[in-house]
Amino acid sequence: MHYKRMRSHGTTDPQPKRVSPTCEHCDRPAIARGWCERHYRQWQDRGDPTYSDRRRAALDPIVVNQWGYLQRRGKKSIENGHRLIHREVTDAKPGEHVHHINGIKADNRRENLWVCSHGEHLTAHSSLQDAAFAAVRSGLIVFEGGMYRISEDSATTAC
Ligand SMILES: [Zn+2]
Ligand SMILES: [Zn+2]
Repeated sequence: MHYKRMRSHGTTDPQPKRVSPTCEHCDRPAIARGWCERHYRQWQDRGDPTYSDRRRAALDPIVVNQWGYLQRRGKKSIENGHRLIHREVTDAKPGEHVHHINGIKADNRRENLWVCSHGEHLTAHSSLQDAAFAAVRSGLIVFEGGMYRISEDSATTAC
């Protein structure tokens, strides 16, 4: 992203009078690669401009949010304010979805998380509903009192 920015500010184009650009990762003025002095130095030292931001953010306590997902508390945010643990575990990029395969929102083991597109996510959920209705037809799930539940017969005969 910042490569493009550097190219568009090439020496052949006269620089328009404008406020100096700010760093991609904070509010300080950018001095190189679209980053401020501190973030640029971290990139030189660690190969990652946000190295210490990530390290500090990783120390924030984990809490359950209002939707039942785990996230980090604390104002310090990286990646557009995403502080969700399932995104941290999968290193999901903005726009990517993370699906909890077993439906347990707090189970952020890597094998329970699937990184996908919005469309793939919708397909995963609709296929689950199709599978659930198939289980109703085969008697694995029963409908009683306006609710679905796993049939007791199928639970006890399973091995
Ligand atoms: Zn910065
Ligand atoms: Zn999902």
